[in-house]
Amino acid sequence: MKPGALGSPGVALLSRGPLARGCELCFPGLKAVVFVTGLCDDGCYYCPVNRERLGRDVLYVNEERVSSVEELLVEVYRQGAMGASITGGDPLIRFDLTLRVIRALKDNFSESFHIHLYTSGRYATRQALIALDRAGLDEIRFHPTRPGFEERIADAVKYTSMSVGLEIPIAPGLEKWAVRLIEYSDRVGADFVNLNEMEFVEPNAEALLLRGYTEDPRRPHTVKGSLEAALRVLEWAGRNASIPVHFCPAAYKDSIQTINRLRRTARLDRAWFEEAKGPLLVWGEIRLGEERVLAPPRPGLIAALAEEVRGEAYILEGYPTRNRRPVTLVERVYPPGGGGSTL
Ligand code: SF4
Repeated sequence: MKPGALGSPGVALLSRGPLARGCELCFPGLKAVVFVTGLCDDGCYYCPVNRERLGRDVLYVNEERVSSVEELLVEVYRQGAMGASITGGDPLIRFDLTLRVIRALKDNFSESFHIHLYTSGRYATRQALIALDRAGLDEIRFHPTRPGFEERIADAVKYTSMSVGLEIPIAPGLEKWAVRLIEYSDRVGADFVNLNEMEFVEPNAEALLLRGYTEDPRRPHTVKGSLEAALRVLEWAGRNASIPVHFCPAAYKDSIQTINRLRRTARLDRAWFEEAKGPLLVWGEIRLGEERVLAPPRPGLIAALAEEVRGEAYILEGYPTRNRRPVTLVERVYPPGGGGSTL
């Protein structure tokens, strides 16, 4: 198929064709994000990965740093995840660990636990792709950063049973690159293409500014013009491609996926004295010098207990992290008169 001219965004839709299975589970917060390593040999100027992680061989599940596959499984369990996305860095740089993680997830949760993985394709040799498929990987998403890497997409389609997709950032000036990759993916029989709104965040802000990109004041943390660029590509794809193409707005990640994931973790992982409030947990705390006693967030109850022991009583809230650092002091209930504050 030949690319047509990239036209006006007016008639384009934000997606065409069915969503990839990995995305279906992402939106409701059912996927755990498994960051297997920060190592990566691609050096993309737009890389949004936090610099505390990028280039470092560290393992995280969602926001939690873990140090073993066993700890990783505990975090996935706390979330009640029904699938995982394996990301980095480039997970294929830590190939053996990636295979171990895939197998451990399948063995401990179930064969239907859906796993997708992101890679630039740099290290996705045929043998590597076949090994990933055999380990149980369900879906692979390529972000071909260099000419030639896209051939890995064709190899994955030809030599494996995995669902194969393309996932690339989109911004003004990248439309032709996107069109070329969509055409290629369509021609070799890949399953889907995702266009990610390019993020404008602290790790990549300077590099983006140097290339003339600015932040969109109407869409915080995104590159100005990224949405319009995506719409032009979608409009082109609607006329020229048969592969499903979707646009993923950056806000989905923070305001939908992450919040839904935290909500679910809060609901499933709360202790007897905690109450889930959206993505947060609320609990009571009685303090007597250095000692802390945790209790349900019932003002009358904890005020009475604090009065009895001549201590102080607070209601606190925080995210459902492993070590439950409170983020807000909601109220000091004893002695009376304390207001809320951010800790
Ligand atoms: S391939 Fe991904 S992790 Fe690596 S530099 Fe590019 S955007 Fe960052």
